This record gives sequence, structure tokens and C-alpha cells, in this order.
Amino acid sequence: MSGTILGCIADDFTGATDIAGLLARSGVRVSLRIGVPDTPPKTTSAFEVIALKSRTAPVQKAIDETRSALAWLRDAGARRFYWKYCSTFDSTADGNIGPVAEALMGDLGTDQTIYCPAFPENGRSIFMGNLFVGQQPLAESPMRDHPLTPMRDSNLMRLLAPQVRGRVGLIDRLTVAQGAQSLQDALAQHRAEGIAHVVVDAVASSDLVIIATACRDMPLMTGGSAVAMPLPALYLANGLLSDDAPKRPHHTLPDATIILSGSCSAMTNAQASAYIATGAPSYQLDPLTLAERGTQEVIDWLAAQDLAQAPLVYATADPASVNAAQAKVGAVELGALIENTLAHCATAARDAGARRIIVAGGETSGAVTRALGVAQLDIGTEIAPGVPWTFCISDGVQIALALKSGNFGGEDFFTDAQTRLDAS
Ligand code: ADP
Repeated sequence: MSGTILGCIADDFTGATDIAGLLARSGVRVSLRIGVPDTPPKTTSAFEVIALKSRTAPVQKAIDETRSALAWLRDAGARRFYWKYCSTFDSTADGNIGPVAEALMGDLGTDQTIYCPAFPENGRSIFMGNLFVGQQPLAESPMRDHPLTPMRDSNLMRLLAPQVRGRVGLIDRLTVAQGAQSLQDALAQHRAEGIAHVVVDAVASSDLVIIATACRDMPLMTGGSAVAMPLPALYLANGLLSDDAPKRPHHTLPDATIILSGSCSAMTNAQASAYIATGAPSYQLDPLTLAERGTQEVIDWLAAQDLAQAPLVYATADPASVNAAQAKVGAVELGALIENTLAHCATAARDAGARRIIVAGGETSGAVTRALGVAQLDIGTEIAPGVPWTFCISDGVQIALALKSGNFGGEDFFTDAQTRLDAS
């Protein structure tokens, strides 16, 4: 069977690599496009993922971009679609998760979809419609201090309702735990009552299999990456995907490495500290100095480094320092300044021979891949749940890129990423 079976649209780059990596766990080839390709689909994979940079975009812009991604994926032959957003539902009352889902439903002519940002393996679970990060409700987790999307409510129905026109409902864990049939019955019941937007509880990986089984033929599913993970196996089992579908690729590359960290999440703070403690060379970007003096200083520092030592450039800082700098320069301006600086570091390092680039931060990863001029990535081996190595061509050379969303990976992620690539 050829053509695209599942078309996924992600609202940021690390979200796209996350879902692509989980789909690739099945061993099949997964292709990730950065932005909507400007040419019609020619050679496509069974699983196609389009990465947008729309997480914090104004609603209409996010809708327009997502609809054009949908149109491209439909041209590629996909008949099932997945709208992937953050597992911490990064979205305020004027956020675009609901409006985008509603626009996609309109284009697909469907009257119901599910919302399931759960990722139990990464500590994201939903119970009675409330999203938890580890043992903490979302609004009590470090996400309440995110620089761009501070989350101050944990209830997904309350977060979603102001964003959509249709009715919002819940299917709770008690129903999910009874299996796929009971979930399908509950969805049908909700549909009969005119409930278009259904938050679905999931606290364990087995819940995800039940949800994916019940929803695998829905025109549109929405959520974090994890509920898409069982889909390849389900498609293999029902013959939609054939056993001889192309497999995941691997490339051996020189060890010249650069690590760029623009995330201020609690986990990235811990990862940067752990990496610095190994004695690896590191350079901390000071946002205010950067605003005054520009990027030359860090570029000069980078030029003097031995890339075989895998140097780290980081803006990563604790919430108090972030707030202080934002008060002086403005959150959006500061974010863009740091993203552009790290993107500049990426091209400078590539030109100096770096062939392995590790990036922490969703927005930061978007800026880096754009600067590298990368349009398509093949998904490789997994470093941590939801974070694969990817392979691509930048300025005519083969490179490996690891793009990590802020909260993902363990404390030793920056070291793990390097050893994982060599071991695969
Ligand atoms: P995450 O995946 O953790 O959300 P992102 O890269 O998406 O990470 O978002 C972090 C944002 O914070 C980026 O726009 C980045 O440029 C900005 N940022 C990084 N360091 C600082 C800092 N020290 N002060 C203010 N903003 C920062």
C-alpha cells in the first residue's frame, strides 16, 4: 500500500519531532517537513508530519497555516489527521488550540474530535479533565512560570471552552478503563448530545492504546504526541500499513558537536547544570548584554572552541532572572533576540564543521532549523521519550539534529544524546 496514511500537523518543531519519533518507534520511516512545503507532494512516507511554528501565533494566522498544512497532507493521500500540540496544553484564553481544531473539523466535515495531551511515560496525565505534570496539577507545576505561555489553570475543559464555538465535554478514566468499545459508545453518546470537543482522560500508557484503538478511524484526533504512538501498530494489524513499508534510516557522522539551549524550563535548567558539571566548555548568554552589544562576543567564543568537546551555549536561566530581564526588554523581544542569537550560533558552528547539533527549547528549535535552511528531516533513533535524533541536509552537508522541547529528557540529556547517536 502506498501513499500517506496519517497526516500530522504539529504547532511547533519539537512537538513535531516528538510525535514523529513516537511513530518511528514502530520502525517505519517517518518524514517530517518544516513548514508547509511549497511544492505539491511527490515522494511521501506512510507517516507525514508537518511542523508549524504556530503555538503562540495569533488565532487567524495559526488557522490559516494549519489549514494549508491539512490541504497538503490531503494531496499526499492522507485521510486521517492528527493535530499535535503541547502535552502541557500551552495555550491561554486567546490561545489557538481550540480554534485550529474547529477549523480543521470544518474542512474535514467532521462534527467531533478528541483532546488528549496525556503522555504518561513523560509524566503528563489527565484525570477528570485535569492535566497533571508528574504529581502536580498543571497550574501548580513549573509551567505556571513559562516565559511565553504561563499556565494558571489545570482544567482542560475550562481552558478549551472560551476558545471554541462548539460544546465541550469529558470522557473520564472510568469509561476509558472499560475499553475501546465503551469509549466509542461514550463518544457516540456525546455526539448525539451535540458535544463536538471531547477531552479524554488518560493516566497510563494502556489508556492510550484504548483511546487510539477507539479513535483510529476518526478523520481528526488532537492531543499530545503519545496517543498517536499506537497508531502504526494498529494500522499494521488491520492491513492499512504493509509489512514491507520503508524503514527508519541511520547515518554515521563526525563527532563535532554544538549544544544550544534556549529553554528556561525547570528540566532544561537541570540539564544545563548537569552538563556544565561534566567540565564541558560552556557560554552563558546574558540577555541584557546581548541586547546592548549584539552577538559578536559569543560567535568569537564559539570560533575558539574545539567542537569535539561538544560546547554548550545557553540562555537557560531561572524564572526570577527571566522575569527581571523581561521587565527591562519585553518578553517577546527578548525571546526573539535569544532565538536569533542561538540560530546564528548554529550556522556558525555548522560552517566550522559541526555535524551534530543539539537544541533545547521548542521556539528555539524552530529558529535554529530555519537558520540552517532545513526543509525535511528523516527520523532516527530515540534519545529520550519523545526526542529522536533526526537526519537532514543543511547547506549541502549531512547533519544530525536533536530538537528537544524544554521539559523533555532526563538530567543527563545533553550527554545521553551524544552517546545514543554513536551507539545506534
Ligand atoms: P520551551 O520548549 O521550554 O518552551 P522555548 O524555546 O519554546 O522553550 O521557549 C523559551 C523562550 O524563552 C524562547 O523564546 C527563548 O528565547 C526565551 N528565553 C530563553 N532564555 C531566556 C532568558 N534568560 N530570559 C528571557 N527569555 C529567555
